[in-house]
Order: sequence, then structure tokens, then C-alpha cells
Amino acid sequence: MENILQNIALVQQRIANTCERVGRKPEEVKLLLATKTVTPERIKVALNAGYTLIAENKVQELKEKYEALKDTPHTNHFIGHLQTNKIKDILRYEVSCVESVDRLDLAQKLHNRLESEGKELDIFIQVNTSNEESKFGADPSEVLNLVKQVATLPTLHIKGLMTIGLFSAETEKVRACFKLLKHLQQEIIALNLPNVDPRELSMGMSGDLETAIEEGATIVRVGTAIFGKRIYPDSYYWNEK
Ligand SMILES: *Cc1c(COP(=O)(O)O)cnc(C)c1O
Repeated sequence: MENILQNIALVQQRIANTCERVGRKPEEVKLLLATKTVTPERIKVALNAGYTLIAENKVQELKEKYEALKDTPHTNHFIGHLQTNKIKDILRYEVSCVESVDRLDLAQKLHNRLESEGKELDIFIQVNTSNEESKFGADPSEVLNLVKQVATLPTLHIKGLMTIGLFSAETEKVRACFKLLKHLQQEIIALNLPNVDPRELSMGMSGDLETAIEEGATIVRVGTAIFGKRIYPDSYYWNEK
């Protein structure tokens, strides 16, 4: 358990070192804890230490942990593939931002549900910057169009973009993914759409957070480096089946 706090300190140090190296302020980079497969008891170690931005990939896990975590202050993002039949649960279990909106059909159904409940929601657009079949996310060529259409749905507020970088030991190939996300952010800002303020760039994980911060990440999503290795392969979370 104590390792969790030591590991967070190490990750914070990596964030601070990178920020210093590239002339950014460490406060510009938020640490989001990717808590898939992590028990509520272990998540609470981090929450009680003040690391309160967490995210699940699966609605089922969000649901299972909800009761155990609800009295410990925290902010829930959602970072996994979201099926439209789970939208109700996303709202019920108090997710404040869905980072993984990647198609108009999902945005439209989120909007319909939000409207009927009299709610609003922050979202990020997830982009598939690595061109890998196995990952979700809108195709980069479709992002501007998607943003324009989502911007017409008044209950949804686009606050940023999210991506999972290429899994590769070749840093420059990973960097290209993050550069592409930053480039798309600039293009969206230039559109100057009402109700669209894509200031957040959610990119970088345990293995590539330095590269992501160098390219402008404002949120890094870290699991393994804090909670240790998971028994499930990521394909379990990132593939359709
Ligand atoms: C699991 C996960 C992370 C964290 O990955 P680690 O390599 O464990 O740090 C980040 N983003 C998403 C979407 C994830 O599913």
C-alpha cells in the first residue's frame, strides 16, 4: 500500500523534471490515476493523499467501486470505450468528463440522455493518432467534422482531446502521435466554435509521459507506474471484443 504513495512521488518527480526541462510549469500537468483493476482500498490510499483525479475504462468497474469510493472526495473521468447502452450508468455514477467520445452517434445519445435528465457534461474527443486497428478513437481526418457536429449539442462541452500513443520503443514515432493531437487542438481552436474550449490534451501514460509533456500534455493518465502491473492485457480494455 505504501508503495502507492512512493510511486506517485516518483511519477510527480518525472512530471516536474520534464516540465523543468522544457520550460513548463508543473501545475500545467495534471496527474490522472488510471484505476482499472485497482481495488477501492488501494485507490483510497491515493485519494486520501490528495490525488483525486481518477478514471475507469469500464462501466462495470465504475459501478462496482462506486459505493466504496463515494464518500471519499474525488473526480471521475471515463477513459474507455463507451457503449451507448451504458450511458445511463455513466451519469448515475457521477462521471464528470468522458474523455473517450469518438463518434457522433455516441455524442448524440449522450446529449439526448443529458437533456432528459437536465444535465450537462464535459467531454474530450478521443483521437486514434497511431493508426492502430486495435485502438478506439476518431480518425484524425474526421476530427474537425466531428467537433463541428458535437458543438451543436448544447449539453456537451468539448474541453479537450485524448489519445493513446503508439506502443513503440521508438520515441519519435510515439512523439508523432502527440504532435498530431496538438496540431488538431490548434485547428479546433482556430475554428472558434461557441461551446468548444479544447484546452486539455490528455496524452501520455506510464511509459511515455515525458514525451507527451514535451508535446504539450495537460493531463497524463498513469496506472502501472503507480499501482503496478495488471494481470489483464490492455487489449482486454482496448479491443472491441
Ligand atoms: C490503462 C490506461 C492508461 C494507463 O496506462 P499505464 O500504462 O498503466 O500507465 C491510460 N489511458 C488509458 C485509456 C488506459 O486504458
